[in-house]
Amino acid sequence: VSDGDDSRPPTADWRPSRAKQDWFAEPPLRGFQQRVQTTKVCYRKESCAQRIEVVDSVPFGRMLVLDGAVQTTERDEFIYHEMLVHPALLCHPDPRQVLLIGGGDGGALRRILQHPVSTVTMVELDSQVVEVSQRYLPSVGGTAILDHRASLLIEDGVEFVKHCDLKLDAVIVDSTDPVGPAKALFAEEFYRSVHRILADDGVFVTQSGSPLLMPAELHETYHNLRQVFPVVRLYLTPVPSYPGTLWSFTFASKGRDPLGVEPGVIRQRLSDRAISPHFYTSELHFGAFALPSFVEEALKGGRPIDLLA
Ligand code: SAM
Repeated sequence: VSDGDDSRPPTADWRPSRAKQDWFAEPPLRGFQQRVQTTKVCYRKESCAQRIEVVDSVPFGRMLVLDGAVQTTERDEFIYHEMLVHPALLCHPDPRQVLLIGGGDGGALRRILQHPVSTVTMVELDSQVVEVSQRYLPSVGGTAILDHRASLLIEDGVEFVKHCDLKLDAVIVDSTDPVGPAKALFAEEFYRSVHRILADDGVFVTQSGSPLLMPAELHETYHNLRQVFPVVRLYLTPVPSYPGTLWSFTFASKGRDPLGVEPGVIRQRLSDRAISPHFYTSELHFGAFALPSFVEEALKGGRPIDLLA
C-alpha cells in the first residue's frame, strides 16, 4: 500500500484497492480535510448498513473506518470513550441498568462495565462492525462483549427505544454521525422516546460531532434535546483522529446535573469504582463543560456556531 511519497496532494476519495495509495483522508468537509499516512489495508467489505474498512496508520495505529469516516483508532480511542461514558456515569451514584446504542467497536461498552452496572444492553445496527472490531481491533473493546452483564442486540436503536418498556439509569448513544441510519438518533422524536424510558434520576449522553465542521448538526442536536429535557449540557474534548480534532458530546437529564456534583464526590466514586482513566480526570469532569464564549452564545441563540463561515 505504501509508496512513501509524501509530496502527493491528499485524495478526496480514498480507495484502498489502489495498491499505491498510502494516505487516508475523510472526504473534505467545508473546505477542510486532514489525512494520515497508512501502511496496510487489513479489511474492506460492504455490510448490510455501510462500507467497513480497517486500516493501519502511522500516527494512530489501526483505525476502524465506516463509510469513509474514522470511527475509532487504537491510539486515541481512550479519549473519546472515556469522555463519552465517565462524565455521565460518574454523576450517577448507582447506575445499574444501562442502554448503549451503536458502539459496535466495544470501546464504550468496556468503559460502561467499569461502573457498578447490573446490565448493559447494547443495540447495534451492524453485526459485522462488532465482529470486525473484535477480530482486528481487540484492544478497543477487550473482552467486554463476553461480560455476563452485557447483552448484544442487532437492531436499529431508534426502533428499539420506541418499543422498549424498561426504566433505565443511563442511555448512551455512540453512533456514527447524523446521516443514514444514525440520522434519526439525533431527532426530537427519538429524544422523546429516550425521555420515556429514562428513570427520573437517569442520565443520557450522545456524541454530537465537530463544533467546527458540523455546527448546524450540533446546534440541532442541542436544541432537539432542549425541547425534551430540562438539563442539557454540551461539553468538548480533543479527539486527534477526528476531523478538526475538537469534538462534542451532549448530556441530558430530567434533573441530574454533572456540574451539580461536588468534585470530592467524583473523586470518591472514581476510587470506589476502581477506575483509573488515561484521559478523564475529576478536574476534566468540570473543565470539559467550560465552553468558549462563541459556543455558549451560539447555543443560547437561535443560530448554529459557524466559525468557518
Ligand atoms: N465513536 C464513533 C464516532 O463518533 O464516530 C462511533 C463508533 S461506533 C462504531 C458507531 C456505530 O453506530 C456503528 O457501528 C453503526 O453501525 C452504529 N449505528 C449507526 N446508526 C445506528 C442505529 N440507528 N442503531 C444502532 N446502531 C447504529
